[in-house]
Amino acid sequence: MSYLALRAVRKVFRAKGRPDVFAVRDVSLEVHGGELVGLLGPSGCGKSTTLRMIAGLEQLTAGDIRLDGRSIVDLPPQRRNIGVAFENYALYPPLTVAENIEFGLRARSSRLRDRRGNREARVREVAERIGLADILDAMPASLSSGQKQRVALARAVVREPDLLLLDEPLSHLDAAQRDTTRRELRHLQQESGYTTILVTHDQEEALSLADRVAVMDDGVVRQVGTPDQVYDDPTDLFVARFVGEPAMNLLDGNLEPGAVRLAPGLAVPVTLTHSRGRVVLGVRPEDVSITEPDRADLPGVLVVYEDLLEFGLATVEVSGVDSRVVAQTAPGLRLRPGDPASLALHRDRSFVFDAATGERIR
Ligand code: ADP
Ligand code: MG
Repeated sequence: MSYLALRAVRKVFRAKGRPDVFAVRDVSLEVHGGELVGLLGPSGCGKSTTLRMIAGLEQLTAGDIRLDGRSIVDLPPQRRNIGVAFENYALYPPLTVAENIEFGLRARSSRLRDRRGNREARVREVAERIGLADILDAMPASLSSGQKQRVALARAVVREPDLLLLDEPLSHLDAAQRDTTRRELRHLQQESGYTTILVTHDQEEALSLADRVAVMDDGVVRQVGTPDQVYDDPTDLFVARFVGEPAMNLLDGNLEPGAVRLAPGLAVPVTLTHSRGRVVLGVRPEDVSITEPDRADLPGVLVVYEDLLEFGLATVEVSGVDSRVVAQTAPGLRLRPGDPASLALHRDRSFVFDAATGERIR
């Protein structure tokens, strides 16, 4: 169980005649022994570059990476005991499943020979753990994407890595496979206690798998916290927008003592007691309810209602407010488009962000 620390890690791609690409800007992050940290962010925000620097496949422009207190940035990849599974599997087509898994042992074969006797036994043991024992002789071309993904994972863990790096490991799987593989992955990680970073652009995947989530945007880590913390207590507008499905409602307004004014004659109470200029009020659909007109914060009209069996989603237009508001309701709401729908917002679960900087106002 190794402990990883990134200290102000930066990566700038420079090429002649092209503008510099600031892929990673001073990222600091700690991953504790046995912990699974989800590195979550939109495409192009610098997740893979961060992972490649940890694995030693990319040089740092600045900063330091420490594994168990020792800097590893000057070690070549094969001298870092790090298992990596990338999105595209990178399996060798002419090799069988067993040979592909065994490939993960090459870099450190001597240590494993001493410790375990032989590679074949080790490959078999890992294959059994990951559900590949029956297809050890198969060729990669004959495998499903779920199986290929497992082979890549088996190859990454076969050498008992100090650190496991997974880049979008579930992205090529269909919904059903993704669910099973996600559960298996979590089980394997917990059982073996690998310190793990899992890169994903899928917030649901990060929230369901990770002990802690690091939310990344444009080369910067915006927030690190447990799934509950990033969901219930977002540090800025980016995190608020990116985490949660259906997305948080975000309404433009002005902060006044005790309320956000959305339009003349239309203010929503909040717990903040000072004023500030332009703000964005954020409230999740589950914290908006349809209520009696005399108890409502916002009078509105139903635009669409979607019944999703376990709950419903009502999209409501509020006159004077630019954005439509989505409320999560009990299933089977008996309102039709065009009907009045009065909304109440959960005051303790409403967030206020500075409109200019996106910073949360507390
Ligand atoms: P993510 O994995 O989050 O989608 P990446 O780390 O792959 O993002 O990329 C971050 C940024 O760095 C992107 O703008 C990407 O185009 C750029 N980038 C990645 N690799 C290179 C490279 N070898 N040369 C130039 N730019 C690169
Ligand atoms: Mg990537």
